[in-house]
Amino acid sequence: MVLKIYNTMTRKKEEFKPLTNNRVYLFVCGPTVYDYSHLGHARTYVSYDVIARWLRHRGYSLLFLMNITDIDDKIIKRAEEKKVDPIKLAREYEKYFYEDMNALGIDTVNIYARATEHIPEIISQIRRLVDKGYAYETDTGIYFDIGKFPGYGKLSHQKPEELRKHRVEPDPTKKNPQDFSLWKKHKPGEPSWDSPWGRGRPGWHVEDTAIAERYLGQQYDIHGGAVDLIFPHHEAEIAQMESLSGKKPMVKYWTHTGFLLVRGEKMAKSLGNFVTIREALKKWPPETLRFFLVSTHYRSPVDYSEEKIEQAQKSLETLYNALNTFEGLKEAERDNLLKKEKEMLEEAVKAEKKFSEAMDDDFNTPLALSALFELARKMNLFSSKAEEVNPVVKRRVTGVMRRLGSVLGILKRKPLEIEKELTDQLIELILELRDRARKIKDWGTADWIRDKLGEIGIELEDTEKETKWRFKRI
Ligand code: AMP
Repeated sequence: MVLKIYNTMTRKKEEFKPLTNNRVYLFVCGPTVYDYSHLGHARTYVSYDVIARWLRHRGYSLLFLMNITDIDDKIIKRAEEKKVDPIKLAREYEKYFYEDMNALGIDTVNIYARATEHIPEIISQIRRLVDKGYAYETDTGIYFDIGKFPGYGKLSHQKPEELRKHRVEPDPTKKNPQDFSLWKKHKPGEPSWDSPWGRGRPGWHVEDTAIAERYLGQQYDIHGGAVDLIFPHHEAEIAQMESLSGKKPMVKYWTHTGFLLVRGEKMAKSLGNFVTIREALKKWPPETLRFFLVSTHYRSPVDYSEEKIEQAQKSLETLYNALNTFEGLKEAERDNLLKKEKEMLEEAVKAEKKFSEAMDDDFNTPLALSALFELARKMNLFSSKAEEVNPVVKRRVTGVMRRLGSVLGILKRKPLEIEKELTDQLIELILELRDRARKIKDWGTADWIRDKLGEIGIELEDTEKETKWRFKRI
């Protein structure tokens, strides 16, 4: 079977052939760490987590690299507002970023690389660009001369007259208004590093190419980010790296995720329409959020709404119900397979094939999910008629369901965990009833609930804010 990936550069789905045998090098643009990550970030990072899982599932040896932008205008501005050190601020939000990624089960990244820990690599790239005549110095910094790179605009498919509309870095002494910054000369109060051009700090685009060159080389397989990064960020990366190395293409497959939208607008910190990942996780389990995100293809925009997440929760429960009922079937003490068991095994094979074909077709997660629902339907049909099941069939069928689910990062809960969750929810419900009784000063009922819970081993502790509970035995 052939894996196909949509390439933003050619605007076509192309057969995936890594540059070196079985090894795949993937670079995804990481966050600028000056605030909490929101569901828009989750959209992009869950997408690449699933892509990485699928590549590994298919047997590729994947090196997944992500940069952390820990020095940037936005970080400096936020630090000024909060009157804290910019690097300290960046470290704090970087820590929260990892917490959020962990909570969402995003665990496929091999290397996180901070910009500020790669200053020598960044300076080396800029120096080589200056030496080769692709970059020049002004009073404000070092700039890339886009006049020297005829391919500028090839990724975003823009003609020179369209490119001329974009003005970046307002230095009137630049050769072209579109020339972008590689090194920004020091301004008072800003973090800075020594360089051949005096103290200063790196531009945004060169951070990524310097980090990628160090770990992946001058040419690699896949580069990713959301669609807003196509221009100018990824365009600039190509200009820098291809000028520097003289090798084309810098990246074989350019991939971009569709935005998470709120009423038609990108969810963004600057627009103030965002829901942070940690807020969302207070309301919904991580698997529900993942399910919501992967039920749309990674390249399509996703409309955020609470109703859609609730719907995702219900759909996920449908899969869990099928899985749990099947896992709960009594095991038959016989070796032979009944006709319906053979058919059930065939259904599992079919689901696996459909799932794989969908994922091989540019990581089509909604279609892959439909294969899981089809299998769930067949499992329900089987369970509704069967008294018992051959244990091998039980293990194979549920194994397929769980293995495919794990590619999407769902169906991880084991039956015991579900029971625990249910227990927690029931106790919370009882505590709410007790709380309601206390609010209307029905102390008799409140005390009765406390005593009854005590009898079954659950201890309560009333604090000013809430009632805590715990098992006495633990
Ligand atoms: P930032 O921290 O803003 O640099 O963003 C980090 C990554 O998240 C980049 O790839 C962005 O393009 C992506 N991103 C930001 N907002 C959204 C959104 N609403 N939907 C999808 N991806 C987003």
